[in-house]
Amino acid sequence: MQERIRNFSIIAHVDHGKSTLADRILQQTRAVQAREMREQFLDSLELERERGITIKAAAVRLAYTARDGHTYTLNLIDTPGHVDFNYEVSRALAAVEGVLLVVDATQGVEAQTIANFFLALEHDHVIIPVVNKIDLPSARPEEVALEIEETLGLPAEEAIFASGKTGEGVDEILEAIVQRIPPPKGDPEAPLKALIFDSIYDSYQGVVPYVRIYEGTVKPGDPIRIWSTGKVYTVDKVGVFRPGHLEATPALTPGEVGWVMAGIREIHDAQVGDTITHHTRPTEAPYPGFKPAKPVVFAGLYPVDSQDYGRLRDALEKLKLNDAALWFEPETSEALGFGFRCGFLGLLHAEIVQERLEREFDLDLIATAPSVVYRVVLHDGTELEVHNPSDLPDAGKIREVLEPYVRVTVYTPEEYVGAVMQLLQEKRGRMAHMNYIGKRVELVYEVPFAEILYDFHDRLKSITRGYASMDYEQIGYRPGELVKVNILVNGEPVDALAFIAHREKAYFIARAMVDKLAEVIPRQQFAVPIQAAIGGKVIARATVKALRKDVLAKCYGGDVSRKKKLLERQKEGKKRLKAIGKVEVPQEAFLAVLSAG
Ligand code: GDP
Ligand code: MG
Repeated sequence: MQERIRNFSIIAHVDHGKSTLADRILQQTRAVQAREMREQFLDSLELERERGITIKAAAVRLAYTARDGHTYTLNLIDTPGHVDFNYEVSRALAAVEGVLLVVDATQGVEAQTIANFFLALEHDHVIIPVVNKIDLPSARPEEVALEIEETLGLPAEEAIFASGKTGEGVDEILEAIVQRIPPPKGDPEAPLKALIFDSIYDSYQGVVPYVRIYEGTVKPGDPIRIWSTGKVYTVDKVGVFRPGHLEATPALTPGEVGWVMAGIREIHDAQVGDTITHHTRPTEAPYPGFKPAKPVVFAGLYPVDSQDYGRLRDALEKLKLNDAALWFEPETSEALGFGFRCGFLGLLHAEIVQERLEREFDLDLIATAPSVVYRVVLHDGTELEVHNPSDLPDAGKIREVLEPYVRVTVYTPEEYVGAVMQLLQEKRGRMAHMNYIGKRVELVYEVPFAEILYDFHDRLKSITRGYASMDYEQIGYRPGELVKVNILVNGEPVDALAFIAHREKAYFIARAMVDKLAEVIPRQQFAVPIQAAIGGKVIARATVKALRKDVLAKCYGGDVSRKKKLLERQKEGKKRLKAIGKVEVPQEAFLAVLSAG
């Protein structure tokens, strides 16, 4: 019954305890038997467990018997907290009526608490503040509740004090969900309007869209139509999410969150954000679309073994279905052969895509250094977008290069303000404004995106002992003094190693880069010069010395197993080597610029 459905999400700054709290909610509602329970149940991807972060929003349906004696259906949609995945957060938010805003009782409000709060506000959702981790000795729940009131305007007395660790407060949270979040609306007799908020690819079932039903009913046997493509399918099964598996149900009705199997084979035919309706009795208008996620960081992905090109393409297509923000296009590199230029939401997203490709699809890949998108205006007035540093035209042809800027918001205790400002200045940032909120300071700077891409977050954390947090948004393009630096290995320019840098920093980065390359490129039978050059001018050089001894010489006469091990280890290393001319270059080399910046 619709009256008894509650759809909600949990949002928070990263590490404030969303996933742990979700676990407790699952346990409390007995959705998961104690013996099946493992930590962070919703983080089902292997990678998510290992990294301890939530990448994909996961949905689960729970039954909760409230104090009023009625049993409610709760649909919980877990969301990621990292800034790279804001897009997933906004998709999840389109499918619910309310959110739990979790704030760590020892950390207080942080940058992504605020960013996620505004996303929920845009959807007009009921927001239930939860002050979490109150079991910790350093917890200061009352203070944090007041901070939430001060910064976000949510009354302190509405905050629930809880611990995902001990389970304290979880009952109160469940009651608040039932009492404060409204039931979904929608007429079960109306023409079907279902929003695709996610989807998975299953090799037997094909594409399985995850939907939120706004109007109408969908059941097996129904002819359905995908709004934007006009393609028609017959529904095979529908159902809901249970922890760890999909459960078939007779129908899905308004307010419900579930899945539809309809033999959709083409992954382009069930895009996230699209609407599913009935073929014979269609809805008048689709659900208003999502803001499309726009990739802002680009890198090349190449198979180590060129035979794997086709498998890489298939794998990217499958991942894309599950990750609407991923973009890719074939690309050829002189050094690396056939591969793909891929677009990501940020560096973490890029890393995760590469790891998923390697684990889930068993591919060995070489990734080039991620870069932002530059815009170039040539003397003849032509404008182009450069997604790959090696595509930057010759300096002589360029009138102007523009680079993307972001507005960075840093939230820090006041004692670190000086250090944070210095870091932002070093990153070519300009202050937009500064606010004191209690003992915290909000610093807003406009900074070239490329400058915060690599090590900014780590450095921010280290100079503030982990106390500062950040968020950023794109604010458009501005001209910059930018140059392309070519890297020559053994006298040959290697397109996949070229990078673009600010003129004043180019020398410094080039120096660090050639040193790093000289360190990671294995010694060959001959000495290998490494050079960095702007146009024809070499600005830094280093040498990989020639190899003296064979790796096996060391164990001449030694025992066989040791020799075998050495050979095996050498083979392991080889997997990630790419021959460039006569030189074998390892994966690390292509990312050297990350540590050089
Ligand atoms: P998420 O990034 O918001 O999903 O956060 P997680 O649920 O992964 O939690 C981040 C870290 O905080 C993990 O090490 C958890 O074990 C820990 N944690 C989460 N909730 C609590 C809590 O209520 N009390 C304590 N002491 N630790 C918690
Ligand atoms: Mg999590």
